[in-house]
Amino acid sequence: MMMYLNKIIPCSLVAILLSCSEVKLPDFDVYAEGQKEVLDAFGFTFDPSLIRHKTIKEDFHVIFGFGGNILISIGEDGVLAIDSQFPQIYEALLAKIKSLGGSGINHIINTHWHFDHADGNRAFGPLGAEIYAHINSLNYMKSGASINLVGAVYPQQPYEKEALATVTYEDTLDINLNGQTIKLMNFGPAHTTGDTVIYFKEANIIHTGDLTNLDGLPFIDADNGGTLEGMISSLYRVLELIDDNTIVVPGHGPVADKDTIKSFLMKLVAVNNRIDALIDQGKSGQEILEINPAKEIIEEVPFPILVNRALVGKGLL
Ligand SMILES: [Zn+2]
Repeated sequence: MMMYLNKIIPCSLVAILLSCSEVKLPDFDVYAEGQKEVLDAFGFTFDPSLIRHKTIKEDFHVIFGFGGNILISIGEDGVLAIDSQFPQIYEALLAKIKSLGGSGINHIINTHWHFDHADGNRAFGPLGAEIYAHINSLNYMKSGASINLVGAVYPQQPYEKEALATVTYEDTLDINLNGQTIKLMNFGPAHTTGDTVIYFKEANIIHTGDLTNLDGLPFIDADNGGTLEGMISSLYRVLELIDDNTIVVPGHGPVADKDTIKSFLMKLVAVNNRIDALIDQGKSGQEILEINPAKEIIEEVPFPILVNRALVGKGLL
């Protein structure tokens, strides 16, 4: 039904003010206890002037703003967005999309349910976007969850009905939009239990979601079922799929290629091997945390977030 609404009322920025004026959006400046502190700590100012884009191929753009990278495909089926960032900046995101030749967001594929990738659904869902996600991500969008970031906990709240994914899958799903065969794939628990890797076959572009973080530390939502081993095995699957010409959009950080993913993966493998070697030596989780076996492999580790999350995933903390 939402799809039809979309076709009848294209929600361009102007149309939002006119035809779509009856759409009631929640007040996005209302925060649950504990949310604002975490957003501030991440530096999420929601200043629209900081929203940038990079055109990576004809009709494909990456929008960098606050939170996860948004990959945009524009074509005959409208605008497809991989991830939706934050509703606090939905007007600025729509203005950016308009400047790129789109009008509104017709389809969203969420790489996973974390707030910095999917909260924008709370605006774009009610405005008519059809939302795709892994079934486990839908369940977390419905229930909300505490995300333990080590040193801070983000209390993600249940989404409104209109913000939820309406198309879900378990292992793989192929869809065809904008002349592309688009493969949605889940390789088991990794960054979360509901990760989706999205591959545009003809364009040879992949969005890895937070299986890859090229801006800061790799993170695993271990309290909600993520594991370091799963991150590693999923990234091996990604490498099997792509070639030297594939354009790789990571969850965070600059647009990359296969070699970048390979070296990111090798760091994770090295950390995991060191942790396992320490386990074999009989070290406890707490002792391994104190040693911090990631420190020479992943630079600028203020405290061992990755090791902490990996140990939780291994049942040792
Ligand atoms: Zn995430």
